[in-house]
Amino acid sequence: MKIWADFHTHTRYSHGTGTIEQNVRVAIERGLCAIGISEHGPANIGLGPKLEDFYKMREEIERLRDIYIGIDILLGCEANIVSLDGELDIPDYVLANLDYAMVGLHPMVWPRSMEDGFSLLFKNTMSKVIASAKLKEKVMEQNTTALIKAIRSNNIKIVTHPGLHLPIDTAKLARAAMEHGTALEINAGHGYMTEEYVRIAKANGAKFAIGSDAHYPENVGDFKKALKIAKNAGLTKNDIINAARFVERV
Ligand SMILES: [Zn+2]
Ligand SMILES: [Zn+2]
Repeated sequence: MKIWADFHTHTRYSHGTGTIEQNVRVAIERGLCAIGISEHGPANIGLGPKLEDFYKMREEIERLRDIYIGIDILLGCEANIVSLDGELDIPDYVLANLDYAMVGLHPMVWPRSMEDGFSLLFKNTMSKVIASAKLKEKVMEQNTTALIKAIRSNNIKIVTHPGLHLPIDTAKLARAAMEHGTALEINAGHGYMTEEYVRIAKANGAKFAIGSDAHYPENVGDFKKALKIAKNAGLTKNDIINAARFVERV
């Protein structure tokens, strides 16, 4: 299966190590048709870029588009959820400047309010240390609801790494994602995703996106781990939004 685009890559604008141009060069070497630069929103504690950086990235990408004409260079984001209502840390006026938006739940994020912080940070952390099935269930429900609200109120192309660090109800999220035309990511970087997650999501109507989540330029377009999971879970190119539909030349 050939993946034609990597929508999930980071650079020095957050905690990646490379420049946008370095990511683009690796994408070209790997034969991709498109690459997305998808920085975290500003709420990530200690690593989020500033909102104005998205304008700098846009300028840089426009410059690179004139140089690297053989590849589509896109500006995306990996927005954070900062409230139980699914509010994003990237406002609409900045989202309007992007080519696409992704959203992901991350544990170390500045919340919108004390109450949101208590639920999103504190309860999630407690559910890992306290053996309470009730608390775990409550936390999973609240995480899932926040994500679903985010994809309902915004035009989200992909939910990144569902279930990483913060548990979610895969079936519920998959149904909402299908309704809103949002894909769920099979993340090649973190190495925690399972075939079971993919099978449940597919059974509930989800489409998938394969992403490298590269934080080093050399990892751009490296989809090996995700492709293995996709294949073992029985996905075909029609299940994956960035899998090539054309017949590959041998
Ligand atoms: Zn992430
Ligand atoms: Zn990421």
